[in-house]
Amino acid sequence: MNSFFKKINFGLHLDPKIEKRPDGGKYIPDGRETVLIIYADFELGWAWRYAKNEYGGVEKAAEQGLKERNNMPVILDLCSEHNIPITWATIGHLFLESCSRNARMAHEEIRRAEYFENEFWKYSKGDWFDADPCTDYKANPEWYCPDLIRKIMESGVKHEIGCHTFSHIDCTDRFCPPAVFDSEIAECKNAASSFGIELKSFVHPAHTIGNLDGLIKNGFTSYRTDYDNILGYPDKYKNSLWELKSTWEFALFKEWSRKYHVYRYCEIFRRAIKSRTVCVLWFHPSMDIRFFESIFPEMCKYINDNRDKIWVTTATEYVNFLDGRGL
Ligand SMILES: [Zn+2]
Ligand SMILES: [Zn+2]
Repeated sequence: MNSFFKKINFGLHLDPKIEKRPDGGKYIPDGRETVLIIYADFELGWAWRYAKNEYGGVEKAAEQGLKERNNMPVILDLCSEHNIPITWATIGHLFLESCSRNARMAHEEIRRAEYFENEFWKYSKGDWFDADPCTDYKANPEWYCPDLIRKIMESGVKHEIGCHTFSHIDCTDRFCPPAVFDSEIAECKNAASSFGIELKSFVHPAHTIGNLDGLIKNGFTSYRTDYDNILGYPDKYKNSLWELKSTWEFALFKEWSRKYHVYRYCEIFRRAIKSRTVCVLWFHPSMDIRFFESIFPEMCKYINDNRDKIWVTTATEYVNFLDGRGL
């Protein structure tokens, strides 16, 4: 849908869709009107290697990785300035200081999926880790970033580090056998544990939803979906894994004015407050940094002016609240 129709649908209150549930109030803490969770899918070059769009291929992927790196200090400073916590769905490889290619292959302990093609990616030759430089974060900062993870942890804001698989795999049950999924997650846990991090929140790369039983088995308590733009309530899978539903992805549309962008985000917050629903926003830190320079501070101002109504939190803090309520 183009930006013109997005604007029309928004004006008509067709987007985001507002879910109604008789017991909806249970999902919002007493005294507040809405819960706001903001995710970042944090991946450097890993997301783009097999992309079918203009960012595909190792070189372009690395460029995206560097762009993301350049953006991160700006984003983190703004989060600190406005005290906005982010749930960073982080690619496991980013935790590494370095890695090496042994005689046979990179990350030999990780099982590979068969070649596949989905809506976004095509993996049809070579090895899944061919793009991995197998050096270290100083030589190839577009593939590793323990320095940035430390920066997130030391920023003074209650950010959460979550999981986005080790190497940005397709997680669907069609393309990802449980053994592949489990070996990716085992590496993520291993890498995160050296930072003292326990991974609880998960985001499937490109929302390739699958291996939900694998998530439960590996101790995750939530995942995010993007079937539609929703202001609504979480659902629980097998009584142990919460599904948090996306409301909107940060995007900068050239056809829209700065003023309209700001209006739109603040209006989403107003609608969330009015409907007493949960708002889940997400972004790629590699996106056009002008969004953070010109739109994000205005959003933060609205949030901070309405902290009495809006609980801005992370996925796991929210899940802890839900579980605490016995939901
Ligand atoms: Zn590696
Ligand atoms: Zn991703």
